Amino acid sequence: MDRADVIVIGAGLAGLVVAWHAAERGRRVLLLDQEGPQSIGGQAWWSLGGLFMVDTPEQRRLRIADSRDLAARDWMGSAQFDRPEDANPRAWAEAYLDFAAGPMRSYLHGLGMRWFPVVGWAERRYAPQGHGNSVPRFHITWGTGTGVVKPYAARVTGHPRITLAFRRRVTALIVEAGAVTGVEGDILADDAAPIGAATNRTVTGHFIAKAEAVVIASGGIGGNHALVRAAWPVDRLGPPPARMVSGVPAYVDGAMLGTAEAAGAQVINRDRMWHYCEGLRNWDPIWPNHGIRILPGPSSLWLDATGERLEPPCFPGFDTLGTLRRILSTGHAHSWFLLTQSIIEKEFALSGSEQNPDLTSGRWLAVLRERLGKGATRAVEAFKAKGEDFVVATDLDTLVAGMSRITPEAPLDAGRIRQQVEARDAAVLGGPPDPQVTAIHAARHYLGDRLIRTAKPHRLLDPAHGPLIAVRLNILTRKSLGGLHTDLSARVLRPDGRPLPGLHAAGEAAGFGGGGHHGYNALEGTFLGGCIFSGRTAGEAV
Ligand SMILES: Cc1cc2nc3c(=O)[nH]c(=O)nc-3n(C[C@H](O)[C@H](O)[C@H](O)COP(=O)(O)OP(=O)(O)OC[C@H]3O[C@@H](n4cnc5c(N)ncnc54)[C@H](O)[C@@H]3O)c2cc1C
Repeated sequence: MDRADVIVIGAGLAGLVVAWHAAERGRRVLLLDQEGPQSIGGQAWWSLGGLFMVDTPEQRRLRIADSRDLAARDWMGSAQFDRPEDANPRAWAEAYLDFAAGPMRSYLHGLGMRWFPVVGWAERRYAPQGHGNSVPRFHITWGTGTGVVKPYAARVTGHPRITLAFRRRVTALIVEAGAVTGVEGDILADDAAPIGAATNRTVTGHFIAKAEAVVIASGGIGGNHALVRAAWPVDRLGPPPARMVSGVPAYVDGAMLGTAEAAGAQVINRDRMWHYCEGLRNWDPIWPNHGIRILPGPSSLWLDATGERLEPPCFPGFDTLGTLRRILSTGHAHSWFLLTQSIIEKEFALSGSEQNPDLTSGRWLAVLRERLGKGATRAVEAFKAKGEDFVVATDLDTLVAGMSRITPEAPLDAGRIRQQVEARDAAVLGGPPDPQVTAIHAARHYLGDRLIRTAKPHRLLDPAHGPLIAVRLNILTRKSLGGLHTDLSARVLRPDGRPLPGLHAAGEAAGFGGGGHHGYNALEGTFLGGCIFSGRTAGEAV
């Protein structure tokens, strides 16, 4: 049997942050993960490394006027907390805002992180009230997700007070006299699978470990579609889609949440989740059913599965869950982007460290060559050439015929699509106004968008900007917004609201803090940010 002061379950970003902070306070930490050493950092390693920070030098250089008050208004407008159990999540949201507008950047800078100078504008606000970011706040870390993981992984690996134990799958918490005193589980056979690939579940032994405190940092449920479907908010989004792609590796299996409940912990806000509408099936998959998300600029025409244009504010990059609801209202699980070569070159980015080798390399020359060179990025061009979701044609009729071939269950009417494209194109030429064209002009008022994210408005049917491109978009599962209910010290609570002694939680397993600090909607960059903040809090508390 192993003994430590603190056991941390999960060597993803949250677990690494907890372990390092606890060890720096003199605690002896046992850090367990069901995967092998190649997977250290968990999902964060794959991430784009975008962090929600407020009123930073990067923002100020781009003349973005941000403040804690404005960020709080945006956050609360998005979260729409409305449940009695939202008290702790709301308090965590306030605490995260203090961190993001306060010491966050200097703390991370001190660990060695740096950021790409153009701040991204995710989840743009469309209306004065409600969901969305009023200003750009998405700070992409140099090195993308690997640039977020490395400073912590380097500090944890070889730390004199941290023992890393891989291929240890926790299957139960040990509870004695009402307190959690340890964990037990399976020792899994070693597996040299490449990072991110599914690994074997061959059990070679059993282990028990005891400690004063156990911290659950086991991530969310996005890789387990059965759990996603079971918790799906049918009342808000309609029935779960029949077909989804996976935006996370298979180890994001959500099993630990049930294990914690069995030991007396409370999980809240399970029905709050953050899945994307712009998923591509990866032509070169790493994990099962691997999906990649397009981070779209604002110009693509968004059509539902029947070929009808989505209404405002369902434009690319504005309102993730509102758009998801609208797409699913057709009874189909897909939608379409219709765009031009000029738009794909300027506006298409793919989420993930491996899809952005230039930013992941952290080298300026690579970035300039990739982003300012001819064509879209190589990763995007590869999807265009090899991805099963892409259609490319020089004229609209051929394009629509190609789209209908991909989705024979939902054939499209070329005449109807032409009508809508021409109406939008007329607005570009000064005809009757079109809200999306207005939004494109508005985006170009922000220097960052004009430089690298928003194509000059043009007619979709202008051959000079061709060829035409259609992309079938799949629903992509990613984040859990709910999770283990915790107080402001990251202590896990029981259903009666009292702490379950000995148990803490951080990261996605804790809904990034409190059991759901996002409420119903996220502003992006708040997941990695939430892992860091809740991990630090838990590491200081145990
Ligand atoms: C492609 C991609 C892009 C993203 N981009 C961004 C971004 O730009 N900005 C942002 O804020 N967020 C982003 N995210 C989301 C963010 O990366 C995750 O939400 C975050 O990293 C979750 O970290 P975590 O430590 O809580 O969980 P995880 O990274 O899931 O780590 C949990 C670990 O626990 C282990 N584990 C689980 N159960 C057990 C068990 N029973 N026993 C032992 N070990 C167990 C798992 O093997 C895993 O290693 C992205 C995610 C992906 C996949």
